[in-house]
Amino acid sequence: MIAYLGRIVHDNDAESKLDDDVSTISKSLDLQGSIENGDVSSLASKDFGGLYSVKPLFLIKPSGAEDISRVVKLASRTSNLTVAARGNGHSINGQAMAEGGLVIDMRSTEKNHFEFLPINGSHYIDVSGGALWEDVLTRCVSRYGYAPRSWTDYLSLTVGGTLSNAGVSGQAFRYGPQTSNVTELEVVTGKGEITVCSETLNSELFFGVLGGLGQFGVITRARIKLQQAPDMVRWIRVVYSEFEEFTRDAEFLVTQKEGESFDYVEGFVFCNNDDPFNGWPSVPLDPGHEFNPTHISQTAGSILYCLEVAFHYRNSDHPTVDTAVNGLLGRLRFVEGLKSQVDVSYTKFLLRVNRAEEQVKANGPGDGPHPWLNLFVSKSDVVNFDRTVFKTMLKDGVGGPMLIYPLLRSKWDDRTSVVLPEGEIVYIVALLRFVPNGPSVEKLVAQNREIVNWCIKVGLDFKLYLPHYQSKGDWERHFGNRWSRFVERKASFDPMAILAPGQNIFRRDPSNIIISREF
Ligand code: FAD
Repeated sequence: MIAYLGRIVHDNDAESKLDDDVSTISKSLDLQGSIENGDVSSLASKDFGGLYSVKPLFLIKPSGAEDISRVVKLASRTSNLTVAARGNGHSINGQAMAEGGLVIDMRSTEKNHFEFLPINGSHYIDVSGGALWEDVLTRCVSRYGYAPRSWTDYLSLTVGGTLSNAGVSGQAFRYGPQTSNVTELEVVTGKGEITVCSETLNSELFFGVLGGLGQFGVITRARIKLQQAPDMVRWIRVVYSEFEEFTRDAEFLVTQKEGESFDYVEGFVFCNNDDPFNGWPSVPLDPGHEFNPTHISQTAGSILYCLEVAFHYRNSDHPTVDTAVNGLLGRLRFVEGLKSQVDVSYTKFLLRVNRAEEQVKANGPGDGPHPWLNLFVSKSDVVNFDRTVFKTMLKDGVGGPMLIYPLLRSKWDDRTSVVLPEGEIVYIVALLRFVPNGPSVEKLVAQNREIVNWCIKVGLDFKLYLPHYQSKGDWERHFGNRWSRFVERKASFDPMAILAPGQNIFRRDPSNIIISREF
């Protein structure tokens, strides 16, 4: 078997015989799931970013953890095969790809786990690593009236994919990222071992995998904390012309106690003009409302800020909602007259970006590249970032949302693999570029690089979110004093560097061949 795979990997002539190889390998592996040839046009060679495309050797659709374990063990018996778990392929820079390697389509496992667990007065749900968050939401709410506490803005992402990064949205200021809302994982390590881990059981693996960029194991099951789902959400946007006022109000809201603030706090930057994607029309929540620019002072600059908040309520609370919301809004200093609000069901609110994406797909020019850039910037440097990046480099917008909102570091667990800048208040910045008719993708990638290089040059306290680096030096700088812990975790859980090669952090070392007589 080893010699056979070696031939497939090294001998280009073998490509014509791949159909035979697929069935031979499938039988040898004794997979319950299925296996397909890698192909440049296949799912596994693409991602949402559309910037990279590499050809895997095989795409595997496992039936569960046992299959994944067999695939990883098979790779470990070769000199060079790597394995990439692919969630929903919503990475930007090929992070879920494996050139000439084995890509595992986690979506084939999405229905394996779905168990509601009341434990000691709290509620949890066990879900598959390959489940989409949108399905977790709809099933949890409709069956049990409960829902996870911490989300991403867009929900066609897998549980394993976001937990491998962090999972951030407007609830994170209160509950932390999704990685702070998991109590147990089942993981297939880079040694092919199926291991259950938690804060108290195999804790190094548990914390390593959370935010671990897929480097230490494949998440096959996650136990997620739940809260009672509200019925409705009042969703509100208010506008600011000054960054200092926007940040002061956003920071005020995220530092209030639960019950004394909104349940969701985000914000974005937009252009002070009538551009349909970047300007005033991007603000109103109700298509029947128009943005009235006469409220903006003549002295305002070329960009403006929008604070987006939401207040959860149950139908029976309705009479008191106005009082509570108006009390909170009364403490904010947004531009009078520039407020937009709607009441929507809780699930409709959480599925808002999915809906927007469907509309874009229906009306738009199809899937183009998405050279997105995401960063965390320390509060201490955010004014400088606004002045140089938003007000100067990006004053004409990015052809899509430019998010910025504060998070509280104390809600993140330092034991996970995620790294953040210093200080209690950290801003997430997301430049969500769409490029239908704008500048070339090369120009936009170059502009991203310029922003990152400027951050490094001026010594800004920042970290990339969903990081993408090419050199070991860059990764060392990214992890800072956590680099040695990250390397130790790799040595413990994936010593042959089999997993997640698309992250470009570690390379498989051919000297680490495990010789086995048969597979
Ligand atoms: P993939 O892109 O398939 O995989 C990402 C990485 O995780 C790869 O290295 C892969 O090998 C690894 N991986 C995948 N599954 C597993 C698993 N089960 N076990 C171990 N490793 C695994 N992020 C936020 O935090 N907040 C947001 O609001 C948000 N919104 C987004 C909106 C859109 C439209 C897009 C495209 C992305 C958004 N993201 C957001 C980023 C998103 O969280 C990441 O790109 C995430 O990795 C995508 O999940 P995925 O399931 O598609 O993972």
